[in-house]
Amino acid sequence: MRLEDPVSGLRGVGGARGRLLEILGITSVSDLLYHMPARYEDRRHITPIGQLRDGRVCVAKGRVLGLKINPARKRNVNVAVFDARDGTGAVRVVLFGGPASFTRLKENSVIYLYGAPSFSDRGFLEFVSPEYAVFGTENGTPPWLCLWPIYPTTRGLPRSWLANTIKSCAASPELIPEDPIPTAILEKYSFPSLKKAFEGIHAPKTHEDISRATARLAYQEFYEHQLGIIAQIASTSRLTAKSASAGKELQDMFVASLPFKLTESQKKALEEITSDMDGEKPMNRLLAGDVGSGKTAVAAAAAARCVGAGYQAAVLAPTTILADQFFDFVEKYFAPLGKQAAKITGNTPKALRDELIWRLRDGEIDVLVGTHAMLSETVAFRSMGLLVIDEQQRFGVLQRDKIAGGNRGTHILMTTATPIPRTLRMALYGDIAFTEMATRPGKGRIITKMISDNHVGELYAFLSERVRRTGDKCYWVCPLIGSDGGGESSVTARAKDLRKHMKDIPVEVLTGETPALEKTETMERFRSSGGILVSTTVIEVGVDVSGANVIVIEKASAYGLSQLHQLRGRVGRGNRKGICVLLDSAANLKGSERMSVLLNCGDGFRIAEEDLRLRGAGEYLGVRQHGDENFKVADIARDEKWFLAARDDAAEIQRNAG
Ligand code: ADP
Ligand code: MG
Repeated sequence: MRLEDPVSGLRGVGGARGRLLEILGITSVSDLLYHMPARYEDRRHITPIGQLRDGRVCVAKGRVLGLKINPARKRNVNVAVFDARDGTGAVRVVLFGGPASFTRLKENSVIYLYGAPSFSDRGFLEFVSPEYAVFGTENGTPPWLCLWPIYPTTRGLPRSWLANTIKSCAASPELIPEDPIPTAILEKYSFPSLKKAFEGIHAPKTHEDISRATARLAYQEFYEHQLGIIAQIASTSRLTAKSASAGKELQDMFVASLPFKLTESQKKALEEITSDMDGEKPMNRLLAGDVGSGKTAVAAAAAARCVGAGYQAAVLAPTTILADQFFDFVEKYFAPLGKQAAKITGNTPKALRDELIWRLRDGEIDVLVGTHAMLSETVAFRSMGLLVIDEQQRFGVLQRDKIAGGNRGTHILMTTATPIPRTLRMALYGDIAFTEMATRPGKGRIITKMISDNHVGELYAFLSERVRRTGDKCYWVCPLIGSDGGGESSVTARAKDLRKHMKDIPVEVLTGETPALEKTETMERFRSSGGILVSTTVIEVGVDVSGANVIVIEKASAYGLSQLHQLRGRVGRGNRKGICVLLDSAANLKGSERMSVLLNCGDGFRIAEEDLRLRGAGEYLGVRQHGDENFKVADIARDEKWFLAARDDAAEIQRNAG
């Protein structure tokens, strides 16, 4: 087996488990090796039973004595009660399990326990439902008697199975590729080999192993990425770009046809972009602007210039919803100018797709908007002059390189709503040009309020009044889907409750599990009929529905500040002020430093900085959260030192080579 091979080829990874792994984003052996533990539990030391303490997590080991197994009151559940005894004392153990789960448990067998014992009602220590392993003799030891990695998992996929599977991969030398880092560099930083690094992550003996392995893998990601960037810069700097200066007239007509005047920020951004596009070198620019700052209009104006100069423009959006939205905007203002826009997403029927591909190749289509469904070899442009990558942070670094690399000499404009500090920007893109839009059109500030769970009734009354009387549309965001029928704070449960209480108001549901076509239809209905859209954060960034003026964020404390800020940026885009309600338990809201930042500040960049300060680097930007092809190990804020080292090393290697 090799790294790129599908996991299904591994022993024990059958259909069902394979599908569960896929939910975690694991499809290849490499994905498995790069599935990083969220944390480790130190289970290396056995505590003598006589030294167990109330509430303290530990490993204990003893003989099973006085075993009784009884059916519990609930059907299909048995209770096993016994003492575990070693030379220093005894502790009561209570286990629950199905009828078949206690077959190995025998009087006098050896048991290992992991958990925190607590005082029972009768005043003695007991373990209730600890993790455990049973052996007939002294010879066995549980696999988890070590620094035990705790992996992110999904329901139905046991942690221990995942851990053991990953561990055995990491221990298979034939799966580990040749080390991409030159020996001299490994020696310079005393890095472990690639094989040792995977062992250090998945089967560490000491904490030191973990940190050395993490540093090495992070360094490697930066190093390989920097080499890629250097190569790209070297090849594009020799290319001449398609100058767009001849498109000025069309661009002016486009801007004049918009129903609004560009803000000063938009004008300035557009000036920087057009001066790049008129030049000889391919543009490589990142347009950053808070949610709702009007990046679509700016990007579309750039596309107009490109089209006016006789080239085609492509717009790549991260989701179908955003592609639909961008397309609608472009089509609306390009058609009157006699220019053709088209769209390719995963929903596009094959016959239509084929037709569009032909027309694109003939140069009949001026602007193609789409999702990654348009990134296939068959989709070829007659002459692409500009590539816009909307909400680029949603694309993985590697994916982004691939898109850009395939269109050499094309001007590239990326947009993002996530403010990115300078080092981070260099790490991700090399020396990219940068434009920031500081202001937002429209009514500006969004009113943000905190409401505690026990006032939900009043909130319902308020929403129903807003929807009915002023025709406002409302988003309701929940942290969970609840696809199996409910659960607290789930989309399913909330939608059900809303429907029960507001019979005459349309309540739509949208989650990551909604099929793509249905997503589009749901958004259409919400756009046209209004009401309340209950969703997870699937549609967090970039969604623009006019008349959506209220957003409720349930269990608000579960989100990062930047994420909350981006969510609330979905509302208040028309000429009415937006309202954002942060809903949570009174305890979570009261005196929360984080929440008060949101109430007092409307500047995305400052909020991001606060977020960084309050939550620590790892979660910032969601470099790892998104789980796509972004850096898997490296965390640019945490590993900044390794980034700088890798950048210098890669540059030096390149110099020596060329
Ligand atoms: P984002 O920067 O988050 O992508 P959008 O481009 O979706 O924001 O714009 C948000 C909303 O503001 C849209 O409805 C858009 O039509 C509107 N808009 C953009 N520019 C202006 C402007 N200069 N004046 C008024 N409204 C604008
Ligand atoms: Mg946008």
